[in-house]
Amino acid sequence: MSRIKRTERLTPASSETLLHMLETLPDALFLVNDAETIRYVNTRAQTMIGASREQLLGNPFWRGAPQLVSPSLYQAVRKTRQTQEPTEVEYWSPMTRNWLHAQLTPTVGGLTLQFHEMSAPTPCQETFPQGERLCIDDLDGLHTRIGILTPEGIVLDINEVPLDDAQVRREEVIGKPLAETPWWSFAPASQSRLRAAIARASTGETVRFEAQLCPREGMLLSFESVITPHLDADHQIEYLVIAGIDITARKRAERDIHALIDAIPQLVWTGRPDGYVDSYNQRWLDYTGLTTAQAQGDGWMQCTHPADRQRVLETWQSAVQTGRPYETEQRLLQSTTGEYRWFLMQAVPFKDAQGTILKYVSTCTDIDEQKRAQQQLKTSEENWRVLAETVPQLVWTTLPDGLVEYWSQRWYAYTGSSFEHALGHEWSQFLHPDEYQHTLTVWHHALETGKPYEIEYRLKEGQTGEYRWFLARGMPVRDEAGQIVKWFGTCTDIDEHKRMEEALRESQARASVLMNSNIIGIFVDEGEQIVDANDTFLRMTGYTREDLRERCMNWVHMTPPEYQARTQQAHQELAAQQSMTPYEKEYMCKDGSRLPVLVCGVVLQHHPLQMIAFVLDNSARKELEQRKDGFISMASHELRNPLTALKMQAQLVRKRLEKQGLNGAAAALSGVEGPVKQLERLIGELLDVSKIQAGRLEYRQETVDLDALLHEVADTMQQIHTTHTIVVRGAAPCSLVGDKDRLGQVFINLLSNAIKYSPAAETVEIDLSTSRETVTVRVRDHGFGIPREQRDKVFERFYRAAGPKQKAIPGLGMGLYIVEEIVKRHGGTITVDSEVGKGSTFTVTLPRKRDA
Ligand code: ADP
Repeated sequence: MSRIKRTERLTPASSETLLHMLETLPDALFLVNDAETIRYVNTRAQTMIGASREQLLGNPFWRGAPQLVSPSLYQAVRKTRQTQEPTEVEYWSPMTRNWLHAQLTPTVGGLTLQFHEMSAPTPCQETFPQGERLCIDDLDGLHTRIGILTPEGIVLDINEVPLDDAQVRREEVIGKPLAETPWWSFAPASQSRLRAAIARASTGETVRFEAQLCPREGMLLSFESVITPHLDADHQIEYLVIAGIDITARKRAERDIHALIDAIPQLVWTGRPDGYVDSYNQRWLDYTGLTTAQAQGDGWMQCTHPADRQRVLETWQSAVQTGRPYETEQRLLQSTTGEYRWFLMQAVPFKDAQGTILKYVSTCTDIDEQKRAQQQLKTSEENWRVLAETVPQLVWTTLPDGLVEYWSQRWYAYTGSSFEHALGHEWSQFLHPDEYQHTLTVWHHALETGKPYEIEYRLKEGQTGEYRWFLARGMPVRDEAGQIVKWFGTCTDIDEHKRMEEALRESQARASVLMNSNIIGIFVDEGEQIVDANDTFLRMTGYTREDLRERCMNWVHMTPPEYQARTQQAHQELAAQQSMTPYEKEYMCKDGSRLPVLVCGVVLQHHPLQMIAFVLDNSARKELEQRKDGFISMASHELRNPLTALKMQAQLVRKRLEKQGLNGAAAALSGVEGPVKQLERLIGELLDVSKIQAGRLEYRQETVDLDALLHEVADTMQQIHTTHTIVVRGAAPCSLVGDKDRLGQVFINLLSNAIKYSPAAETVEIDLSTSRETVTVRVRDHGFGIPREQRDKVFERFYRAAGPKQKAIPGLGMGLYIVEEIVKRHGGTITVDSEVGKGSTFTVTLPRKRDA
């Protein structure tokens, strides 16, 4: 306040004196007002800066005297104005290229600046501490463009690089508003951006902006500028530092990137470091149908599947916060189809040399197909699991090194093993000790060679502790490159099979004992060919094993003609019933001799059909039979002659006695004739049987009136047998060709049996009927009947039914044998139909004589 009062007291005279004095000063003196406009300069000052007073007065100091401008001076000016205390500063003026000593003194409404040129700085005379000095000269070595500005934007200092750019001298720009310097004056847009930035910075904000500059003609640069306000100790803005980074190359690269982004086949977007998505390539816009304006920021959420939105947003925000690369899968709506497709989003942060993120560039790769394939794979994997769990085998998979990674449930059920214990190598503990070593050897060998394997081993069942046999199969699963990715295997329970094999082995051993038996001949045939035979059969038939190997044994050839029919019949039975009833036949041996045998057989296999036949040498029995037949034949002959003689003799004697009138004696003698007749019939039958056996029964060929014959037989039989009434029904008015006596013998036999085996019955019936070809005679009784199983046998030689009632009735079992033989020889058939307790019917069918 006192200073102001003092100044107010100055008179015009004293001002003149003062001016004169100022002119004489050896130092350059400037007087500026509060707006830092030059109000006065002395002559020395004019000399120092090379400008006339007129040029200087009214101009801002910083602009009028750029040679003197320096940040230190600027700071000093500010300090003086703030403190209203005189200030001194020494500094290096790059423009005058010498050291200046400036004294600043506050005046009313302004201040004086007095400059003194120095050859060297005064040590320790600096007004500002070293740390606060602005040494822009030090920055000259840097490539960054740096300037110091007043809060109003006046250039206080600037380094070499921008001066080189613009090819201007420092003094040409110092003190000028930066916006009006050659760099900025070129482009009005950049200019106004700078002004706005300076205005904001002078409120204390650090401002970052991009602009295009043209330092000189033909040079166009892109800059990213940062204006940082510098505060003094009182937190007042002292000056601004503007630093410009040449981002021309980056901008060009960005343009190139954008061109590239538009060219690449993926959808691409870019994001700012703060996560704001700022651009999309054409493909992205085409795909989503959105415009850049619609999609910018978080507009992209519109085309993201609602179910993915929250997750994707969180992932993106987290990537932005941590600065890590961003990767996620999401569905994007395709505008043309209205369908969502899966994309893999990958964003990479681009950083500058300092590691600051400049931009995110993200590619969206269509993985829809892949996703679907994955889904299918998953489904097929699930199907595989279901299959593995469904099949009756134990199913496993291992890693390429053999570590088990999966067992189907059956494994757990079988071994009782828990999930934690089942994986890895634990399975081997369930192996039977006998197979343990071998199994591991095979398994390791498979792992080494990569070849599939098959092995049988026993595994312990958890519950019972018993071992069961399994067939284990393992095979490697390879990828497209042929690398084994896993081993897949199954264990099939073959315990039953093994047991059956064992049983089969045993039965084969038993069969081979049988085969090797020297009692029974055994052969196996396939078609007509005998393919295998035991030694006994070979010995029986005289063939050798060599003959068998060379397929010289053919059972059809080995069968004599008379046995062919019976043998074929046996084979048909075999085909129908899988087995044949034992039957007698003969084989022709290799030497042509005949071997009587008893044969039976069963089917051994179906494809091809094989039969196993068992052959008993029947020759001893046959020989015995022959001897018996020989005896019967001989005995019947031997008996018949004396019996005939006896019968003749008795008749002769009876006739003589009758002639002599000895009727009593004659009657007694005729009583002998009955038994003699019976004996004669018996012997006759015996003789017939032996003749049939020998094939020597003779037949006459005559025309027989069957009707007459039957009535004759019936009458004769009725006379002899009075216990029963013989009823003849029907008629057979036809004749046939044959032996009348033998046919008569047939019906006598049937009638006598009918009467004999129906003692309680009163009638025996004969039914006659004819057809065009045949004549049929039925002899029916109401007697004991014949059990079913015996019906066929009653026609066999010497067979007699076993029932107690039949046994009580005398007989030798020859009648029906002879009857059948005679009927057959007449080309006819005989059958029996019977019901036990009700009676039997014997039916004889004979061919009629054909009319000539
Ligand atoms: P047999 O001399 O024993 O009568 P056959 O050859 O005539 O001899 O008859 C054989 C067997 O058939 C008899 O023993 C008898 O058991 C049975 N048989 C024959 N005919 C009859 C019949 N009409 N009723 C019941 N059984 C009969």
